[in-house]
Amino acid sequence: DLAPVKRALLSVSDKTGLVDLGKALSGQGVELLSTGGTAKALRDAGLEVKDVSEVTGFPEMMDGRVKTLHPVVHGGLLALRDDAGHVASMNEHNIGGIDLVVVNLYPFEETVAKGADYDTVIENIDIGGPAMIRSAAKNHGFVNVIVDTEDYATVIEELNAYQGHTTYKLRQRLAQTAYARTAAYDTAVSTWMAAQVDGAPRRRTFGGTLAQTLRYGENPHQQAAFYTDGSNRPGVATAQQHQGKELSYNNINDTDAAFELVSEFAPSDGPACAIIKHANPCGVATGKTMVDAYTRAFDCDRTSAFGGIIALNQTLDGETAEAISGIFTEVVIAPGADADAIEIFGKKKNLRLLTTDGLADPAIAQLTARQVSGGWLVQDKDVGRISRDDLKVVTKRAPSEQELSDLLFAWTVAKHVKSNAIIYVKDGATVGVGAGQMSRVDSTRIAARKAQDMAEAMGLPAPLTQGSVVASDAFFPFADGLVTAAEAGATALIQPGGSMRDEEVIAAADAAGLAMVFTNMRHFRH
Ligand code: 5GP
Repeated sequence: DLAPVKRALLSVSDKTGLVDLGKALSGQGVELLSTGGTAKALRDAGLEVKDVSEVTGFPEMMDGRVKTLHPVVHGGLLALRDDAGHVASMNEHNIGGIDLVVVNLYPFEETVAKGADYDTVIENIDIGGPAMIRSAAKNHGFVNVIVDTEDYATVIEELNAYQGHTTYKLRQRLAQTAYARTAAYDTAVSTWMAAQVDGAPRRRTFGGTLAQTLRYGENPHQQAAFYTDGSNRPGVATAQQHQGKELSYNNINDTDAAFELVSEFAPSDGPACAIIKHANPCGVATGKTMVDAYTRAFDCDRTSAFGGIIALNQTLDGETAEAISGIFTEVVIAPGADADAIEIFGKKKNLRLLTTDGLADPAIAQLTARQVSGGWLVQDKDVGRISRDDLKVVTKRAPSEQELSDLLFAWTVAKHVKSNAIIYVKDGATVGVGAGQMSRVDSTRIAARKAQDMAEAMGLPAPLTQGSVVASDAFFPFADGLVTAAEAGATALIQPGGSMRDEEVIAAADAAGLAMVFTNMRHFRH
């Protein structure tokens, strides 16, 4: 299964490692063919290179749109070396075999990320590159294809080990990588175009580029990796890590949940902090200062906050860093950290500090995907938001100003809590979170009970749910959940409405003197 490499075609946008590769190939007696810029770089390094245009008999034309799209190139890549008919065609048309293709594509993803204009983005769709990659990969029985600069060394090692030959095993592996690259490339193009076309696209595809192989997945016996979608937005994918060991699968998942949640709160509305455990918030709060927001978030559930992940909507300062240092925290993510904070965390070697370039845009159109056996479920991200004007008061009593502002805060948090989600809020801070229960009334009870536990632990005369408001991510199917909330001391409620028993629920609210508003929007998160 060894195949010789006698002729190579190099055509790369990213010229990293190119000259070393060219030298190593030359050293093995491999003839080098190349396109304009790549040929120049190789020649400048003193290597002998033949221009593809010389081989094709056509100049590169149309601003580089047509360089390598020619039967002499694709015949040389696709011909089966052991097929008499293919060999006869090669001889008849004077087609020389090409045994190695080294291509990395026009930087489409980077061009989009830079915010280039439409025409520039279009010009950065590589055509000849993917065509060569796909031809070479199809013929991996004989041909090697390199799309990653990291594979340069591997191929050279084999050429050295096998006197100018490579193994089938390597060629097959390279081909698989190659198709993953062209698939991700076209995904990036179609995803970008989906945002340009008028109306919802008929077909969508999604994929990414391998950013990191993770130590393991959700559990140690699961393999895992992190793929980026190239969008380069503020978030866990692009954050700068200042210290501590590599993030794990669960860390990345929870850090994302924390950052997405806190990004709902515009910095101009004041500091906000979210503490996440197992993808659910165990405390979210706004505050006069960042340390105030953190402390109030922490006070919601001090027990669960241990080993949590914290996200802030503004720069981390020294005072907040000091407060966070009080217990073990896995990760802190914020749009920046001041020198004091960096120094304080510098002493906590196990804490990972991540800073981002701003907050996530909670309104951005994005796809979310989840695998089910036999396929993928794909949907738009939940970017639903409501404002005061969308609320419909359904009870005799209307909420007060303070209740209204807390109701909206609770509703925003509910969107980020696994269903069934019940959130108790007082003065811009969660005081009880019920998450992921199979019945709504259980979520209502659990959140109230935890608030009771916290009150006892903190020596408070009454749980903070006294005088709180409650958000429910979906309608109350029965009045029991609402009655439980009222018993815990809630005075106002926000929920979508739309249950068959709305009348019964509204009557129970009126009987308990609660104010209730309907959003007419649901925030399931399963
Ligand atoms: P160079 O810097 O060598 O002038 O160009 C290298 C780039 O051209 C590579 O990214 C390669 O994928 C791309 N390329 C090679 N052949 C063609 C072609 O026929 N059409 C287009 N659009 N790009 C090509």
